[in-house]
Amino acid sequence: MSKRFRFLCPQCGAYQEVKGNGPCWKCHVEVALPTDGLILIYRKSSVPAMMEILLNGYDLGCLWIKECVQIPVQYGHYNVVVKYLDKVMTKYKGIGMEFDITPDNRIMYLKVERVIPGYTATVVVEQATPEEMPPLQ
Ligand SMILES: [Zn+2]
Repeated sequence: MSKRFRFLCPQCGAYQEVKGNGPCWKCHVEVALPTDGLILIYRKSSVPAMMEILLNGYDLGCLWIKECVQIPVQYGHYNVVVKYLDKVMTKYKGIGMEFDITPDNRIMYLKVERVIPGYTATVVVEQATPEEMPPLQ
């Protein structure tokens, strides 16, 4: 499992992939990673195509085969969608997961292993157990 974290700069909204706190690569403001909760997304599906992650509609980069990304978040309501990369943003679909990160539910494990075939090739995000996630490297 990658020890890098993904999130959006709270100042300028730029997508970041970092190992910890530090300056935003774009606006250079010092950013502290949210510590309330964590969303982990693991791509088990081996279909060789690029997928992208959307968190509450914001692009959080690609999800590669066998990759597990960690997204630190504040308490709140979240909607995670993963779909095949499509510049037109219309052809491919994703069935997402909606959930709340709360003091009683601070870590959300998600997996991507099912794709509904067809013209729209819908990618399904489902809740996973900690045991289903890859070990930390
Ligand atoms: Zn920034």
